[in-house]
Amino acid sequence: MGLIIIGAGIAGLTAGIYARLKGIDTQIIEMHSIPGGNCTSWKRGGYTFEGGMHWLTGSSAKTPLHKIWLDTGAINAGTKFFARDPFITAGSGSDAVSLYRDIERLKEHLLGVSPEDASLIGRLCTDIKHFTFISAPVDGFPPRAIWEVVKSLPSFAWLSTHSVPEYTARFKNPAIRLALNNVVGPGFSALSLLFTLGCFASGDGLYPEGGSIEMVRRMAERFTSLGGKIRYNCRADQVLLDTAAGSTQAWGIRSGDELIQADAVLVTSDMRQAIDSLFAQPLGKETGDAWADKLRSRLRPVVSTFISLGLKTGLAHLPDKVAFYLKEPFEYAGKKIESLFFNNYASYPGYAPGIPGAASSITISISGDTWAYWNKCQTNGSYAEKKQELADKVIKALYAAFPEMAGTAEVQDVATPQSYERYCGTWHGSWMTIWEAGKGQARYPLKSPSIENLFFAGQRLRTPGGLPIAAATGYQVAELFK
Ligand SMILES: Cc1cc2nc3c(=O)[nH]c(=O)nc-3n(C[C@H](O)[C@H](O)[C@H](O)COP(=O)(O)OP(=O)(O)OC[C@H]3O[C@@H](n4cnc5c(N)ncnc54)[C@H](O)[C@@H]3O)c2cc1C
Repeated sequence: MGLIIIGAGIAGLTAGIYARLKGIDTQIIEMHSIPGGNCTSWKRGGYTFEGGMHWLTGSSAKTPLHKIWLDTGAINAGTKFFARDPFITAGSGSDAVSLYRDIERLKEHLLGVSPEDASLIGRLCTDIKHFTFISAPVDGFPPRAIWEVVKSLPSFAWLSTHSVPEYTARFKNPAIRLALNNVVGPGFSALSLLFTLGCFASGDGLYPEGGSIEMVRRMAERFTSLGGKIRYNCRADQVLLDTAAGSTQAWGIRSGDELIQADAVLVTSDMRQAIDSLFAQPLGKETGDAWADKLRSRLRPVVSTFISLGLKTGLAHLPDKVAFYLKEPFEYAGKKIESLFFNNYASYPGYAPGIPGAASSITISISGDTWAYWNKCQTNGSYAEKKQELADKVIKALYAAFPEMAGTAEVQDVATPQSYERYCGTWHGSWMTIWEAGKGQARYPLKSPSIENLFFAGQRLRTPGGLPIAAATGYQVAELFK
């Protein structure tokens, strides 16, 4: 009967590949028609819109995660990477601020733009240097990383208890604030920001050619080439439990009217969703799963709305990620939007149709939990109209800030939190978890403490989630299989 894995996202595919390498009969049940979950991209009118990964932690061969990406076929010796450098540029002209990967170059550039922030810039660059030794771990931090943390302890403690906006508000230069505010989300701790900047400075955090969709295609192929089976368009409605023998045991899943038996079940769909929907009784204190209550109360979801545009103009002269203040702020879901950023794929081969360089794919992401807003729009029938309204506002703001784009938007696509919820089963359309200032890392079990033969993996099991946690928990859970 073997192992059934719910979900062909990064965690499910990773666990499935390592399970097959151990010779375990493994089948993945995936509700969508394609693999990848949140690690996804799609095509509209000949343009490719990246709707998932923007950087891959573990793309550098020096990191512990790298081996997992190689083992799972996510990357291979022939994979080409784009190293966004600068990673982000805020503003334009001589006032523009660019976050370069090279720390000395970054320091010189920032000091040139904003000498009045000299002491903060010096501190920022010293901290980034410390964080280049701390890459996302698989099984705990290596000794060198721990030493670097200890060495920088005074600022480490400060960074972990202050949010990104608190950290950036101290800089006098608005473009520096804008650039730093748009690296990780606004609710994150300053520690997460420094960790991410350290990742870039160390040479990690690259973007594999072909992006999300090509990476998951390689992983799915690796899994099936090892003899694993993936059943698409099959939603797991319930994990089947047997309580007859005195203990509770998972023995398969129910999908519609069909019962699929298994020796063990691994849930990799969004755990926040799963604890309330995949079991006859929601998991919690009453079922011996107090961890599930902690997950409910501690979760601060990362949620965004994505506006993707296909533009009939070449934008390769612009940086890969550009943040800008709006000339005329607009309102969206009750919030005033004063700045935006876009990811620019103009120089990535195959992302736009026609003559290379003549058209460009760009994606704009607006952070904020708008799930309730879009839910209301769905209920009152204004969903399509509100999506169009948002696209119009964003396009207008772009045209005002970048006149070379004016009148060139020929394809537009708005993905709301509801889109991610519908296609990936993610809770409130959330694809990561905010690691808040002053909070330690939340960790949840990989093996159920109350139900035999039931395992868990996926981004939600450790803050902040993302691809590294999905892959690491997929790897770790497979270590538990006999
Ligand atoms: C726009 C965007 C940008 C991102 N950028 C980055 C980045 O740059 N770097 C980074 O590290 N991370 C990034 N992430 C986050 C990262 O993509 C996710 O955290 C990660 O892919 C989660 O993987 P997972 O396997 O844990 O879960 P998921 O991707 O949620 O996979 C779960 C799978 O289970 C399936 N499923 C759900 N319910 C059921 C059911 N009942 N039955 C059957 N199947 C089911 C889903 O369809 C899905 O395929 C980004 C995400 C988004 C959306």
